[in-house]
Amino acid sequence: MRKISLEKLDSLFAAISASQKLYLPVDTKAGAKFEAWEEGKTLSGALNTVRSAKDFFFPQMENMVDFKVQGKNIEVIDIREECEDFVIFGVRACDVKSFEILDRVFLAEPVDTYYKNRRDHGVIISMACTKPAETCFCGTFGIDATAPEGDIVCHKTEDALYLDAKTEKGEKLLASLNALTEETDDTAVEAQKAVTRERLAKLPLANLKTDAFGAGKTMEFFNDPMWKELSQSCLGCGTCTFVCPTCQCYDIKDFNTGNGVKRFRCWDSCMYSDFTKMAHGNIRLTQLERFRQRFMHKLVYYPTNNDGLFSCVGCGRCLSKCPIQMNIVKVMNALGGQNNG
Ligand code: SF4
Ligand code: SF4
Repeated sequence: MRKISLEKLDSLFAAISASQKLYLPVDTKAGAKFEAWEEGKTLSGALNTVRSAKDFFFPQMENMVDFKVQGKNIEVIDIREECEDFVIFGVRACDVKSFEILDRVFLAEPVDTYYKNRRDHGVIISMACTKPAETCFCGTFGIDATAPEGDIVCHKTEDALYLDAKTEKGEKLLASLNALTEETDDTAVEAQKAVTRERLAKLPLANLKTDAFGAGKTMEFFNDPMWKELSQSCLGCGTCTFVCPTCQCYDIKDFNTGNGVKRFRCWDSCMYSDFTKMAHGNIRLTQLERFRQRFMHKLVYYPTNNDGLFSCVGCGRCLSKCPIQMNIVKVMNALGGQNNG
């Protein structure tokens, strides 16, 4: 494990940025947001970013391919380029776990080469949590906020940053920073973890359980009358899906340039009324069906297809952002017979 004084953080960021783009959470008027580091930018003290880190691998909008049209000839122009190496600093345990959930979708055959390109070139430096929020429940999904995954795992104390490489990519990057850091043991980190674990145990959602949900439970929940009540006030705004680190629905849109077509992939939301609209019509006509789809996907369908893994990481974003205060915890309580406020 290596250590650097917090006073030298700028030197650390400058050293990483010298060889590749470094992104880190910074404070903006709209909350914490990942931005490319440059001199003068300081690391946000916020627990998490408003939008998750999934944007780095699955951006909100991307140009996938172009078509040049000349009379009856259509030329396909492959605009893909090898992505440059980049580093994302300060990713929380919940968001790091979301990458595994996205990987199982985008890296399964046939592999999504756009996503893979970015995953191959990204180095993840995670940051252990010390002051979890009341909306956090990552522990429900087996995530340890004090010990995130990542290529390098960081722990920030009052006066120092501790860095521990966990993968080959991480070891390579950390070794390149040896001149700035010093070798240390994990005494301070373990002491901090113990304090944070006490805080985590006292969180309002610390006892939220997934026992009622999981693989193969479709028929137990699909026709539950609670869906009607739960979905009644949903506005279908899609906010919950856009802030969610694990939501991965998208739409393909073509833009006519006059002499060709630019094809884009854009985030979509299963909460939208036209999401399942096809040539023959729409298979989900009501908000009840759309609402049910989102939560059944996270709690039943995804685990059914992915060895029991849930596709929620308990980041709490949907708890704080939904305009009608509806969220996955309320759904789990209502359907799973729990009581977590
Ligand atoms: S469903 Fe809500 S709590 Fe779960 S990962 Fe998505 S935004 Fe976070
Ligand atoms: S659950 Fe909330 S955030 Fe999600 S679509 Fe409905 S109103 Fe919007």
